Amino acid sequence: MEINIDKSSGFCFGVINAIKVAEEQLDQHGSLFCLGDIVHNNKEVERLKTKGLVIIDHQDFRKLKNTRVLIRAHGEPPETYSIARENQIQLIDASCPVVLKLQNKIKKGYEKIRDIEGQVVIFGKEGHAEVNGLTGQTGNNAIVVGSGFENLDKIDFTKPITLFSQTTQSKEQYEELIRHIRERMMQKNCNPDINLQISRSICGQVSNRGPHMAKFAKDHDLVIFVSGKKSSNGRYLFEICRQNNPNSYFISDKNELRIDWFKDARKVGICGATSTPMWLMEEIASEIGTYA
Ligand code: SF4
Repeated sequence: MEINIDKSSGFCFGVINAIKVAEEQLDQHGSLFCLGDIVHNNKEVERLKTKGLVIIDHQDFRKLKNTRVLIRAHGEPPETYSIARENQIQLIDASCPVVLKLQNKIKKGYEKIRDIEGQVVIFGKEGHAEVNGLTGQTGNNAIVVGSGFENLDKIDFTKPITLFSQTTQSKEQYEELIRHIRERMMQKNCNPDINLQISRSICGQVSNRGPHMAKFAKDHDLVIFVSGKKSSNGRYLFEICRQNNPNSYFISDKNELRIDWFKDARKVGICGATSTPMWLMEEIASEIGTYA
């Protein structure tokens, strides 16, 4: 049995940077608080916990004083920075530069559209850390529309709209949402060519992987997709694998492998999300190697 690990799978530069920053701090100080899971991958989180990383939530954060806290690649809303200032917390800011740029764009977009009574709409997962950081730029006034087009009816289609996407959403679904919003605006006699501003803000680290993932899935007769269950791009990229090869399985850990999947497989491909560590895919490849 041939086993190949997809070379382009694994951490994106935003996650690589956050982990590098965390490890440097841990080497220097022995422990570090991190606001939320540093990456949507339990195995990697566990590895860093053994080095001294302590994961806290926003409630814990509010109680801290005079300490250091890491902000992960997803970024944070302005409120987090205010709390840190009030409580003398030193923020080790590992927000991804792509996310920071988007936060800034949303802030400016909101300031502009607020004056003409328009709305900021964000295509993303409500409650997701990155989305909280994005909506925070609008004083939480942005309307978040999910992949099932939830909250669409909260939009007033007679008024101007500035539309953004969470960086890790599906490009195809975003285009579908754009089509839908345009139609609804036209039904209300509101010209989308004038009143709809679109920012194509899906990160290239995710969208560029889609076509590659489709080819990788087609080139193998069995695909093992490795990702944490909370990863948005993990769900998106796995869906691409499944569409291109129905013989695709989503796992987070080698214990979820089932030996009968490999009965007739001659060429097995292992791939994953932008939050999947390479060491985990290698561990899974070694395990599969024992089935041959
Ligand atoms: S997916 Fe893109 S935006 Fe998100 S952390 Fe990675 S590089 Fe940054």
